[in-house]
Amino acid sequence: MRIIAAELSHETNRFSAVPTDLAAFERSGVHRGKAMFPALQNTATPIAGFLDAANEYDFDLIPTLAVWATPSGMVTKEALETLLIELLRGIASAGKVDGILLGLHGAMVAEHQPDADGYILRSIREQVGKRVPIVATLDLHANISQEMVDHADLLIGFDTYPHIDQRERAREAGSAIIRIINGEITPSASLVKPPMMPTSQNMATTGGPMAAILERAFRIEEVPEVLNVTVAGGFPPADVPECGFSVIVTTDNDPALAETLSWDLANFAWKQRDDFLGGVSTWDEAAAALRSIETGPLVLVDIGDNPWTGGPGDSVELLRFLLKQQVRSAAVALVKDPESVEVCRQAGVGSPVELTLGGKIDELHGRSLEASGYVQTLSDGKYVNRGPMHAGVQVDLGPSAVVRIDGVQVLISERAETPIDLNIFRRHGIEPTEMRILGIKGKGHFRASYEPIAERVMLVEGPGITGADLSRLTFSHVRRPIWPLDPDATFEREIG
Ligand SMILES: [Zn+2]
Repeated sequence: MRIIAAELSHETNRFSAVPTDLAAFERSGVHRGKAMFPALQNTATPIAGFLDAANEYDFDLIPTLAVWATPSGMVTKEALETLLIELLRGIASAGKVDGILLGLHGAMVAEHQPDADGYILRSIREQVGKRVPIVATLDLHANISQEMVDHADLLIGFDTYPHIDQRERAREAGSAIIRIINGEITPSASLVKPPMMPTSQNMATTGGPMAAILERAFRIEEVPEVLNVTVAGGFPPADVPECGFSVIVTTDNDPALAETLSWDLANFAWKQRDDFLGGVSTWDEAAAALRSIETGPLVLVDIGDNPWTGGPGDSVELLRFLLKQQVRSAAVALVKDPESVEVCRQAGVGSPVELTLGGKIDELHGRSLEASGYVQTLSDGKYVNRGPMHAGVQVDLGPSAVVRIDGVQVLISERAETPIDLNIFRRHGIEPTEMRILGIKGKGHFRASYEPIAERVMLVEGPGITGADLSRLTFSHVRRPIWPLDPDATFEREIG
C-alpha cells in the first residue's frame, strides 16, 4: 500500500502587518521529498505520527512536502500557489497511490482564497478523484469550513491545548486511512458551528470549558458507530466567515447519528461559552504579584503580542513594565529586533550598548524603549525543543543576543517566535528555574513547559492584535451575529 504524506499549514492573523510570503515559509523550514522523514521522524509533529502508522501497519509512506510558517499576516497568492503546485506535482509523480495523509492547520487565509485549507483539500481531491481517500489532521484552533469537510474523507483535530498530541492524532489518521482503503469503514461527517468565537486564553484542555467539552466528546467517541469527534475552538483574528467554534462528529456510514450527536455537542459547547471569558490580570495585579512571590518564578505572559497568534513579536511593553517595577532576577523572551541584535554583535560580549528596542514593526504594539545595558550573550539562535510540545523540533531565531538592562536579561532575536520551550532560555545561558520572574510572550502553549516550574502563572494583555480583547480588532468578514461580538446571538437547531 502506498500513501502520500504532506504537511502544509499556517495560522493566519489578518490584522498582522507582516505578509506571509514564500520566504517566510522557507525561513520556518521546508522539508522536501526524502529529506522530510529524517528531519521530522523524532518530533512531536504530524509527519512523525504518519510515520508511526506506516511502521505499525506496514505501508509505504511517500514523502512530498512538509512546510509550516510562524503565524503572521495574509498568505500571499504566490506562496500558496507555489507550495500547492509543488505538492500536487509531488503527488502526481508518485504514480498510483492508495491514500493521502495531510497535516493542515485549518486557519490559513490566502489573498485569493480566504478558506485556504478548503481550497487545498479541494485541489487535491480534483487531482486524485474520489477513489483515493484523504485524511487530514487539524489544529485545535482551526476555523473549520463545510468545504474542508466535503473534500476530505476524514478530519481529525488535535485534542490538546497546548498541542501535545499532534503525533498521536496523526498516527490515528494513519490507522483510519488503512481502514477506509480496506473498505472496513465509510466515514460520514456532520459539521456544526454554533455562533461563538471564543479567544484562547481560557481554552487549555487541562481544565475549564474546553476540558468539559472534550470530556463529552470522548464519551461520544465511545459510541460504537462513531469514528471520531473533533472539537475546534477557532482562531478569531483570521477574520473569515468560518471563524469560531466547530464540532465534527464522524460516524461509520450513519449520517443521521452524526447529525444528532454533533448538534448535541455543539449545544453543550454553546452553554459553556461564558467560561471562555476572563483569565487576564490587570497590570496592577501583576505589580502586586511581583511583590508577593516567594521563590518564583512568577511567569508573566503578555498575550497582546504573541508570535504564535500572529503578533510581530517586537512589543516591549512587558519589559517596560518590569523595568519600571525595578525587578531583579528577571528574564524576558523575546523581542524581535534585528537592528538591535546587529548593534550587540558590533559591540561584542561584555560591552555596553545603547538600544532603541522594539516597537518598530507597526503602530499597534506600543512604542520603542530607549535602553542602556550590556551584552551578555551572542548566539546563532538555534536550539532544539525539549518538549513536551514540539519535542525534538529545531527552532531558529536567527542571530540573537541577551542584553542585561538593570535587573532584567532580555533575549533579542532576528525572528519572531513564541518561547514555548524552556530551552530558549537555556540555549542563552539563562536557567529559567533559577529566575524569580520570567516575562514571556504567549497565550496557552507555554503552559506545557512553564507550569511545572512556575510558582505562579499570570496573563496580562499589552497592546496588540493577539489578545483576549476582541474590541481592539475591526472584523470585516466573520459571520454575524456571533458571540461575544454580539452578546445577544442565539443558537437554535435549524429545522429541515
Ligand atoms: Zn493551535
